[in-house]
Amino acid sequence: MSFFNNFSRGFGRSSRKNKQQQQQQQQQQQQQQQSSFLRTSSSHSSVQSTVSNSSNNFKASSSSQYAPPVPKPMFLSQPFIRTALVKGSFKTIVVLPKYVDMGEWLALNTFEFFTYLNLIYGIISEFCTVQSCPAMSAGPGFDYTWLDGSKKQIRFPASRYIDLVLTWTNNKLNDQSIFPTKAGVPFPPSFPVTLQNIFKQMFRIFAHIYYNHFDAIVHLSMEAHWNSFFAHFISFSKEFELLDKRDTEPLRELIEWLEAQGKV
Ligand SMILES: [Zn+2]
Repeated sequence: MSFFNNFSRGFGRSSRKNKQQQQQQQQQQQQQQQSSFLRTSSSHSSVQSTVSNSSNNFKASSSSQYAPPVPKPMFLSQPFIRTALVKGSFKTIVVLPKYVDMGEWLALNTFEFFTYLNLIYGIISEFCTVQSCPAMSAGPGFDYTWLDGSKKQIRFPASRYIDLVLTWTNNKLNDQSIFPTKAGVPFPPSFPVTLQNIFKQMFRIFAHIYYNHFDAIVHLSMEAHWNSFFAHFISFSKEFELLDKRDTEPLRELIEWLEAQGKV
């Protein structure tokens, strides 16, 4: 898969031409971001999440001359929203190739998305601390809780939640009854539902990093890789219906932008 090869080779390579200028923009946007991202204390089930209507309330009063403008998150701002490693559309490369088994194609891609997401989170995990991220959040109104074995909702710091997701997914990927690797062994009937659950949890990690650690992604010159990786992930999810619209709500504006550009 050429994208992942490019992704690996290009890791850590600076893709910016005017670093100083972008750092200045970054600082400005970080300041705006800090003033705009008020964490909510509301907690939602890991299965369900709802959008806070606080932004609607705010819009209702935005005609007042005293209402401050609502700055966009850094990742939705120029030039970052346009930054990509891969030009063109991902729609063609996510399609099931001729003569390839559907289960094998889904398993291979899931394994690769997980591997690279795990790798990237490993790089930025030093910025994701109990102090910086006391909850698993993905923008205003989206806090996720973990369901334990007895279906009890537990609120963990983001780092703990993400560790649990990565371990849980890794165990699924290594479970021969779910992801069989021996020839002739079929994928189980529950395979699509398992994939949907894995993709939902991976999406939350994408969303947490976009909202809480995009400054670190930019600082490490990874924004082109990151944006293209996300576009590939979304394109694949759309092709095989692995994500529900409700689950992708935190990054709806970014996804709509990618769709409008014909990238996903
Ligand atoms: Zn974090």
